[in-house]
Formats: sequence, structure tokens, C-alpha cells
Amino acid sequence: MLTLALSKGRIFEETLPLLRAAGIEVTEDPEKSRKLILATTRPDVRVVIVRASDVPTYVQYGGADLGVTGLDTLIEHSADWGRGSGLYQPLDLRIARCRVSVAVRSDFDYASAVRQGSRLKVATKYVNIAREFFAAKGVHVDMIKLYGSMELAPLTGLADAIVDLVSTGNTLKANHLVEVERIMDISSRLVVNQAALKLKQSAIRSVIDAFSSAIAQD
Ligand code: AMP
Repeated sequence: MLTLALSKGRIFEETLPLLRAAGIEVTEDPEKSRKLILATTRPDVRVVIVRASDVPTYVQYGGADLGVTGLDTLIEHSADWGRGSGLYQPLDLRIARCRVSVAVRSDFDYASAVRQGSRLKVATKYVNIAREFFAAKGVHVDMIKLYGSMELAPLTGLADAIVDLVSTGNTLKANHLVEVERIMDISSRLVVNQAALKLKQSAIRSVIDAFSSAIAQD
């Protein structure tokens, strides 16, 4: 049995065509069902639905053989759990693309705050990415860890800036925030448990090969 860990939403939706290319159809819709284990048209393949930030943990510890996770989540996971943590990353799937950016209120003068060496209050879910970015810039920051609705932080005075995922920029615009720095481009990666790669080599290889030829055709 091969177990693939996915999170609901964009990653699930954008992984479906890749699975289809591998001859795997998920037979249930996680948005309509409360089931956390979804069957597929292949009796030897199942999908487990986990929180996005839990995908690397499931794969690292063998709760799933494979998973699809954003580079943002992977970087945060590696910083917390150590690199080379039993996760093999064979493919950039080029799905769920976005960027990690710094955003501030439109009336906040970020450039002069940085120029003057002010200490910035930064709210984010991506503490490790943010810390490394501001350290490299030589900007002192007080990091405020949040788990969601980052956009609210500058509006309520909780923080001067946020570090968050941006795709179209519509969410920032709707909240009168502006993007002032692009930290990195993000896409989703296939991750594989290293022990599973040895034990279930041919099954996993066939998924990797099918995914990689589906990506190449894009
Ligand atoms: P947008 O309004 O298109 O710029 O999207 C921004 C909102 O969607 C933010 O709340 C982000 O956290 C979230 N978001 C954007 N892209 C992704 C992605 N690839 N994965 C997860 N969340 C995302």
C-alpha cells in the first residue's frame, strides 16, 4: 500500500491532474466528505488529508510514504526538525505557485524605517524564513508568531510588517497593505520518506516518473 499525504485546497486540487497522469483517480472529494483517508481507483494507493504544515511530519515519520507540500512549509519544517530529516525531495511539481513577501500598511514608510535602522515588529507564520531574511538585511526584528490572518496584524497595530504568501496580491489590496519585498518564489514539492523509497522502490519510482513527465508536458 502506498500512502500519499495531501492538504485540502490548492495543493489537493492541483495534485489531482498529476495523479491522473500516474493512472490514479481519487474517488472522494475531501471538501464534501469528512473522511481523512480517501480511496483511489488503485487499490494499492490511498490519500490521507492532513493539515498543510503536517505533511512533512507525516512523510518524515512514515505516516505517509509520499506527500505534496509547499516549499514554505518545507523550509519551516526543516528549520524546526533539522535538515536531511528522512525526507527525499525528488521533484518541484511547479503547482500552487506563489511568493513569500513582506507587506506593510500603505501609510507605513518601510524604506525609511529600514534606512534608519528601526526595530521592526514582524508578524508571520513563517518565522524561520522571515528571521533569515531580515538577519541577512541587517534589520533588527521582533518576531510575532501567528497561525493565520496575518493581514490583520498591521491593521490593529500588532505589527509593523507581515511576512506572508502572496499570489495575486488581492488579499493585500483588500486590506490596504502593500508588498515591499519579495523574499522567495514558492511552489509545491513532492516529498518521499527515505525508508519507503527503498522498501517500495518500484511503486514510488513509477509515481515519481509519471509526475515528472506530466510536469514536463506543462
Ligand atoms: P492572493 O490574494 O491571491 O495574493 O492570495 C493571498 C492569500 O492566499 C494569503 O492569505 C495567502 O496566505 C494565501 N495563499 C496564496 N498562495 C498560496 C499557496 N500557494 N498556498 C497556500 N496559501 C496561499
